[in-house]
Amino acid sequence: MSLALFLATPLLSILRNSSVRLPSLAPAKKKMTQPAALSGVKICIVGSGVCGSSAAFHLSRLQDVSISVFDCGRGPGGRTATRFSRSLPGVSFNHGTPFFAAQCDEATEVLERMVERQLGLGRYEGRRMVLDASSGEMRDAPDEGPQYVGSPHMNSWCEAMLSSNPRITQTYSKTLVEITYDPAKREFSLRDDEDGVYAGFGVVLLTSVATGEERGLSFDLDPSLRRLGASLRKEGVPSDVDRLVNAMAKVRSDKTQTLMLAYPTEAAVPFDCLMVENDPILSKIVILPRQQGLLCLVAHCTRGYANQFTHLAPPTSVPGKEYKPPEELAGTLRERTEGVLRRVMPSAELPAPVMCQLQQWGAAFAVEGPEEARGDGCLWDGCIGLGVGGDFCGEPLGSCESALLCGRALAMKVEGWLREGGRDAASK
Ligand SMILES: Cc1cc2nc3c(=O)[nH]c(=O)nc-3n(C[C@H](O)[C@H](O)[C@H](O)COP(=O)(O)OP(=O)(O)OC[C@H]3O[C@@H](n4cnc5c(N)ncnc54)[C@H](O)[C@@H]3O)c2cc1C
Repeated sequence: MSLALFLATPLLSILRNSSVRLPSLAPAKKKMTQPAALSGVKICIVGSGVCGSSAAFHLSRLQDVSISVFDCGRGPGGRTATRFSRSLPGVSFNHGTPFFAAQCDEATEVLERMVERQLGLGRYEGRRMVLDASSGEMRDAPDEGPQYVGSPHMNSWCEAMLSSNPRITQTYSKTLVEITYDPAKREFSLRDDEDGVYAGFGVVLLTSVATGEERGLSFDLDPSLRRLGASLRKEGVPSDVDRLVNAMAKVRSDKTQTLMLAYPTEAAVPFDCLMVENDPILSKIVILPRQQGLLCLVAHCTRGYANQFTHLAPPTSVPGKEYKPPEELAGTLRERTEGVLRRVMPSAELPAPVMCQLQQWGAAFAVEGPEEARGDGCLWDGCIGLGVGGDFCGEPLGSCESALLCGRALAMKVEGWLREGGRDAASK
């Protein structure tokens, strides 16, 4: 694509100028006329977290493209996760992101439209407070702008984005481990870890890959991106895959642990979210809506604490991290949480919990991302139609806001590329 054409593309200029108003999220009133390059294109999105769901949602307004979303998890949401308890049927915990803030105007505008359209998202109106653990002082949290929460569950937001259009199909419990590209057909194929093959994709978007040390031990797409780059190089097919691989090598994430607790008590808690300052272990306690008469909450540990330990026992343990069994980590976090609850609710009786379950997040928040993604808000190879993105591409790093905007940036890249002739133009 020539530079002149590139700069003339209105969609791309939106990405360059953050003050430009976004295209409406309202369903298109009349059928859009589409260039031939857009018709019948099969788009594959790996990952049904915020980034992948946002990419699928924004792409689905294109007529005549089909979008297939794959995820290794049992359902959509990724780190905006909801865990349904086996021991307490009907009780669920938002044990990943509890709610999130939006700081920039573009994100707020997209999110407000989603709230308006009831796309599984609402405003978080809970009472947020701060506890200084060293002095015991409690105060209201500062106003940090609008806060959002999935409704009724945290992952309902991704669920709603993905089911907003029948052109999006969803496949779960499939871990994709290999990508290949057929230069003759100009199509991608993907393979899962049980040798299932999904073929015929004109575009592939990979979200949240290789973002965590522990996750990287079990699965990631980074090795297969390297293999793809090597095979394209060998066959003399022009591509930017090596640039993408190098950019991804800069992604680093922090770990965290969350503890799900349910207490058979009617005690009223004086906050909905308590941010804890000056505590080496506990960073936040989030109270969930009461379920089956139980006081349900999720305690989050500090990043500093989480990063000291690994729950992966040898031989898969992580160098430089101390191994601690999950029960021990859960015990410490529970003790700390109950200490804080007793402090802020001195007259309430706190019985033993009927549920106490730890979740370890190997890669919870991206803390370093590639410079290469700054301008475009995602990583993109326009030679073959391959995009990579996630919460590591944009500000604030490691947030739902950056994942949402990255998904939208990927969708715009794909749309601009297809409108310019896509792979046909790139191959000339
Ligand atoms: C405990 C916790 C608290 C948080 N608190 C906040 C907060 O307060 N505010 C905030 O803004 N953000 C918060 N975050 C961060 C926020 O959740 C993430 O930034 C955001 O959800 C990332 O979205 P994503 O789509 O980039 O990645 P993900 O949600 O990780 O989505 C990636 C998806 O890809 C799938 N996948 C990966 N590899 C493969 C493969 N090979 N095959 C198939 N599927 C694959 C994964 O299963 C996952 O579903 C928190 C995160 C955690 C864990």
